[in-house]
Amino acid sequence: MENKKIIVAIDGYSSTGKSTFARLVARKLGYVYIDTGAIYRAITYFAYTNGFIDNNRYINVEWLAGTLGSITLAFETSSEDGSCHICLNGVNVEKNIRKMEISEKVSQIAALPFVREYVDRILKRYGKERGVVMDGRDIGTAVFPDAELKIFMVASARVRAERRFKEIVQNGGKESFEQVLENLKKRDYLDEHRAVAPLVKAEDALLLDNSNMSVNDQLDWLRDILKARFGIDITI
Ligand code: C5P
Repeated sequence: MENKKIIVAIDGYSSTGKSTFARLVARKLGYVYIDTGAIYRAITYFAYTNGFIDNNRYINVEWLAGTLGSITLAFETSSEDGSCHICLNGVNVEKNIRKMEISEKVSQIAALPFVREYVDRILKRYGKERGVVMDGRDIGTAVFPDAELKIFMVASARVRAERRFKEIVQNGGKESFEQVLENLKKRDYLDEHRAVAPLVKAEDALLLDNSNMSVNDQLDWLRDILKARFGIDITI
């Protein structure tokens, strides 16, 4: 039997494993998965590669506001392994948007109100039919305050930096652990303190502290909630 279609909003701090968890949950439910951070990163990459945000983080806001409407952003699913990639103007930029030069600038770009409005419009289209799992910072508070299930993910900064550092090393990155930790803390601060849609737990969100939980532990936790609240069955 097909599962009931709800919106699952997964928000939380950087590198809490939101995307890994959200992607798996979407697969178990047969829903679409949207990595909303990838959209903010792709916009930052667009601004950076066109010279409109520099390494001193000066942003040419006027230019960005004027050109944002002309870009195309789309998610593409790989036929090889089913993984999802973001494409900017038809080009797969998934790897480039994860680089430190983008991570260092993305929270400033994401704080611009017109950028948030632009992204919200895209996200609302994806969520129109429900049956979607989205991870981000403001999904349960600003984009879909009416989401049926909201989860807020946290873990200690050190645990998060260790996870992120491992990923960076695996992908051949050269940043030190301290740089990674510093970047996480900076983004946490900017995300929590921006004027529009700051990172905050929605009152009705369930807190998931996964500092000491495996992905399977998290799925077990969710399975019980889905069954009890919505009568939805997933197999682990
Ligand atoms: O999830 P990820 O770490 O890739 O997100 C990158 C950045 O994009 C975040 O640090 C945040 O500044 C911004 N973001 C946001 N709202 C979202 C998703 C991401 O402001 N819904």
